[in-house]
Amino acid sequence: MLKTLRRIVQEVSAAPDLPSALAITVNQIRDAMRVAACTLYLADEDNREYVLMATTGLHPQAAGRVRLNRQQGLIGLVAERQEPLNLEDAPRHPRFHPVRDVGEEAYHAFLGVPLIQYRRVLGVLTIQHTATRQFHPAEVDFLVTIAAQLASTLNHAILSGATQELLNPLATGTRALQGIAGAPGVAMGAVTIPHLLADLDDIPDRAATDPAAEEAAFRAAIATVDDELRGACERLSPLLPPTEQALFTVYRMMLSSDSLIGDTLTGIQAGRWAPTAWRDAVLARVRLLERAEDPYLSARAEDIRDLGRRVLHHLRADPNRQAKLATAERCVLVAEEMSVAHLAAVPPERLAGLVCLRGSALSHVAILARAIGIPAVMGLGDRPIGRYEGCAIIVDGYQGRIYIEPDPAVREEYRQLIADEAELSAELNALRDQPAVTRDGYPLSLYAKAGLLADIATVRDSGAGGIGLYRTEFAFMVRESFPSEDEQCRIYRQMLTALTPRPVVMRTLDIGGDKTLPYFSIEEKNPFLGWRGMRFTLDHPEIFLTQLRAMLRANAGPNNLRILFPMITTVEEVEEALRLLDQAHRELREEGLPTARPPVGVMIEVPSAAWQAAQLARKVDFLSVGTNDLTQYVLAVDRDNAHVAGLYDNLHPAMLKTIAYIIEEGHRADRLVNLCGEMAADPGAAVLLLGMGADSLSASTVSLPRVKWAIRSFTRTETRELARQALQLDTVRQVRRLLNDALRRAGLGEIVHEIH
Ligand code: PEP
Ligand code: MG
Repeated sequence: MLKTLRRIVQEVSAAPDLPSALAITVNQIRDAMRVAACTLYLADEDNREYVLMATTGLHPQAAGRVRLNRQQGLIGLVAERQEPLNLEDAPRHPRFHPVRDVGEEAYHAFLGVPLIQYRRVLGVLTIQHTATRQFHPAEVDFLVTIAAQLASTLNHAILSGATQELLNPLATGTRALQGIAGAPGVAMGAVTIPHLLADLDDIPDRAATDPAAEEAAFRAAIATVDDELRGACERLSPLLPPTEQALFTVYRMMLSSDSLIGDTLTGIQAGRWAPTAWRDAVLARVRLLERAEDPYLSARAEDIRDLGRRVLHHLRADPNRQAKLATAERCVLVAEEMSVAHLAAVPPERLAGLVCLRGSALSHVAILARAIGIPAVMGLGDRPIGRYEGCAIIVDGYQGRIYIEPDPAVREEYRQLIADEAELSAELNALRDQPAVTRDGYPLSLYAKAGLLADIATVRDSGAGGIGLYRTEFAFMVRESFPSEDEQCRIYRQMLTALTPRPVVMRTLDIGGDKTLPYFSIEEKNPFLGWRGMRFTLDHPEIFLTQLRAMLRANAGPNNLRILFPMITTVEEVEEALRLLDQAHRELREEGLPTARPPVGVMIEVPSAAWQAAQLARKVDFLSVGTNDLTQYVLAVDRDNAHVAGLYDNLHPAMLKTIAYIIEEGHRADRLVNLCGEMAADPGAAVLLLGMGADSLSASTVSLPRVKWAIRSFTRTETRELARQALQLDTVRQVRRLLNDALRRAGLGEIVHEIH
């Protein structure tokens, strides 16, 4: 069963387009299960119907024509119940709905299973037989298993708009691809793939501007790879057994194969870019081999792919080709996973938006996007992004949607939205020099967040009272090795000097989880429960001490540094970190550098730290609540996992109780409590946090005006009453509704965060 299943899924995934994939599905299932008919229906959500899309056993002309409304027939029933329906004699079922001219009269036995992905019914798969009998439980299991696999494959097609094009061919250009809202805002631009094209499947469909140059580049790449293989064979042959040596010969034979080269050249002559033509030639062979039942032949598919990548590597290394990337005026970076280094691929003034296929609103790239004020959409799922390169794209960071090659009507709608946004921002900017005080005069400290030196000017101009969270790891992530003490000192000093006398809270290196360093790989099964933040730096005192020394040296003069320890779970960790800080401080004094020992704080990001907030607070000078991580650990929801993004919400009542407890305990120990997670950037949540007693909030400079606007619209008593009520509620929806109503009543309807 497993083998058949794998073969079917493989063939369906390799199909060149959706209609062929659907046809392969029904044919393969019919053959594998030895039934008379197999039919696939897809949900047309616009028209609230199920459409017969592919069949074998019913009349082929029914495909695309037969439409059943949602309440109709057995198909509607399977979808409604969301479970298999196994009938001995379908026509006798009260919900049976005879459809004319499909040839169903001959069939009695019926088994229908829904295709479900993320609780959504995408369609229904049926098998039928002439006999009057129930399908065997093993047959039901098989169809359910294959339906679950197909649902995931189909979901990609649905998200990419392919099914919608089949169902309603006229609807192109207005169809959005739904992901997760990563950073607010709306942008239009051209799809730009930031990384070097990593794999054959990612190569975009591009035309060749100069076929002769493409051919020359291609031939040169082939020759280089051939040289490499020959060289490797010569070097390694004394060490390798003959069978392994033969592999090099096989590789070189494949590389010089007339058909592989010939097909690529034909593609180039037909006007395709060399990488595109090479991709097509290689993948055609890969598919052929993958289909082979012989394990030796199917293993060769991987060899061809590998060769394909090697040649591609050299084609890409051509600098002329690289220069052609990222030439658009407004670039929207689209990548499977994105790092800080990717962002650097485009000049900041041309960066309009970000789209990341993986991750969620709390992935660090989304946080970074919010920090620099560009919209981002995350978690769109697997799709061949490379092929979108150069296409027009709209990024809607509020709804978490993108539109590729949108219609003029959609463009116009978004153009208007962008203009309205600009107007609201201009109004909010007028608040820049106003203090963040409540209507009855209670002041709240608002700080900015930063991570790159480029943030200095924006923070200085933002009217923020200082920097409440400087994420030092970003400077580590864009390098090729750990930065030296001098290098770090230079960066930190620029930051401190530019902001003095306003305080700058510098967090010590917080890597691990989804923040990895290109030069220090950490392989873990559960990275968010692993070697992160303080756990890593305490295990590497040489890295930690270098950073602490750099910070202390940078502070000699500006004297506005505060140090913050991330990912603390025990009191001992704080004691050890403080001991190392004392050591760094002592060393510098001994070296003749009189530096002051700055105030120190602890981040409260995990439940154990929350419950020991008072004990931790007594060891340091202040607390800072990191709600991004705290939410993931309190709710057991990976902040970076698109599958569970719907469960991640920092307004969960359990979170509100946890935060209220931390603030109370921090105050009992007579320490100030700051809040530096993304929650502080949400105006409704900011008002709530003020009511709960937070002493300061840290948000990105882009979010600060809205937060300030909200704070200035309430009295302190109102915020306290809001917090009291919120803490009584049972669900996130109730909390969100309470906040939205309060914002609307205060005249802040424009920034209400709609409940989805
Ligand atoms: C947090 O966890 O809330 C936080 C501010 O830290 P980061 O998002 O960098 O993990
Ligand atoms: Mg954190």
